[in-house]
Amino acid sequence: MKQEYDVIVVGAGPAGSTCARYAAAQGASVVVLEKDRDVGMPVRCGEAVSNRSLEKIVDIDPRWIAATIRRFRLVSPSGQIVEPDLGGHGFVLERRLFDYDLARLAVEAGAEVHTKSYVDGLLPSENGWQGVALQWKGERREIRGRIIVGADGVESRVGKWAGVDTTTHMRDMETCAQMTLSNVDLEDDACEFYFGNDTAPMGYLWVFPKGNGMANVGVGISGMASKQRAAIRYLKDFIARRFPGAGVLTTVAGGVPCAVTVDTLVKDNIVLVGDAAHQVNPMSGGGITSGMFGGKMAGEAIARALAREDLTLLQEYPRQWEKDIGAKHRTYHRMKSAVYKFPDETLDDIARKVLALSPEKRTIWGVFRTALRHQPALVWEMVKVFGLGR
Ligand SMILES: Cc1cc2nc3c(=O)[nH]c(=O)nc-3n(C[C@H](O)[C@H](O)[C@H](O)COP(=O)(O)OP(=O)(O)OC[C@H]3O[C@@H](n4cnc5c(N)ncnc54)[C@H](O)[C@@H]3O)c2cc1C
Repeated sequence: MKQEYDVIVVGAGPAGSTCARYAAAQGASVVVLEKDRDVGMPVRCGEAVSNRSLEKIVDIDPRWIAATIRRFRLVSPSGQIVEPDLGGHGFVLERRLFDYDLARLAVEAGAEVHTKSYVDGLLPSENGWQGVALQWKGERREIRGRIIVGADGVESRVGKWAGVDTTTHMRDMETCAQMTLSNVDLEDDACEFYFGNDTAPMGYLWVFPKGNGMANVGVGISGMASKQRAAIRYLKDFIARRFPGAGVLTTVAGGVPCAVTVDTLVKDNIVLVGDAAHQVNPMSGGGITSGMFGGKMAGEAIARALAREDLTLLQEYPRQWEKDIGAKHRTYHRMKSAVYKFPDETLDDIARKVLALSPEKRTIWGVFRTALRHQPALVWEMVKVFGLGR
């Protein structure tokens, strides 16, 4: 490890590795510091992504794909099943391999990656920050960097150290528990989502197949609901009912910030990406590809700012994020906030109404339009923001 780099990236998740890759590809000297021993471990994720998003950001390696998803089942509290047309397909990934390869791509672009590198502070300078302090393989180190990227995930501290407000209201912090099961009887091309107060209050429960009789089965509930009953208890109840003979290969817990993006993505020479910047889609809780988009935009802005020796160009990143994704996420957040308040009877009523639609109208947007029919302002906003003229 050198003493000085153009860019220090804290965290080797999808957002950090992607940011490093795009900055290094333009000639910046970049180091990625990862606290864990292995990139991509432990996996705390359902691993589901849409093909369209993933294709836009990386060339897909078939080794990453555990299952290809062509059907998407929404199950209402009383058990009615709606299968909307997705207009595309999805994947359940093997994140162990995926995260590893994203880090490899960063290295191939010229970045250094160091594991067992736990960053525990920023080094102040006169007008910002001049580097980070870390424990590297048990040794204390300080390294200098012109730009520091906080890609340190949901429990991010880089933003906080720099004075950025990264708090998430408890209502928007989904508390998740997930088990990877074996010996489950499932169709390998269908993801299932369960809704209802007894299953997943202010959230949903997911069943994502991984092939070979395996599946990621998890639940995410609002932090408000988890005060009454922990997510893991909802999950255990569901698994006992639905998959009584399953083997449990892994159990993980974690939070997902289903909020709007933080107000400050760039402060002085500090840049935030991925979960650290709340770039998760607040409706679905998916943050893999949106974090990678954030990482790419940030990496490109960093490369331009360094090439022109003008750090004010870092501000292009928040502008682009807002234009391409940030505004959409605000609408998703408002939709989620409306939908999560629906009682079980309303969810059942929506399922009934969607099932009464003609098959060509039974799209994911058809579901949202039906769900939000009492919120005309929100439907209009969806039409404007997502260009849904139909
Ligand atoms: C149970 C669960 C299920 C989920 N399911 C899905 C899903 O199906 N689809 C989807 O798209 N998203 C899902 N998500 C969300 C998704 O996992 C995250 O949005 C995504 O991983 C964010 O990527 P990231 O690079 O921002 O952060 P992370 O992937 O969290 O990476 C951050 C990295 O920073 C490292 N780090 C942290 N602090 C330091 C430090 N001080 N020094 C050095 N390194 C540090 C961490 O070790 C970690 O490797 C799920 C999340 C949970 C909890």
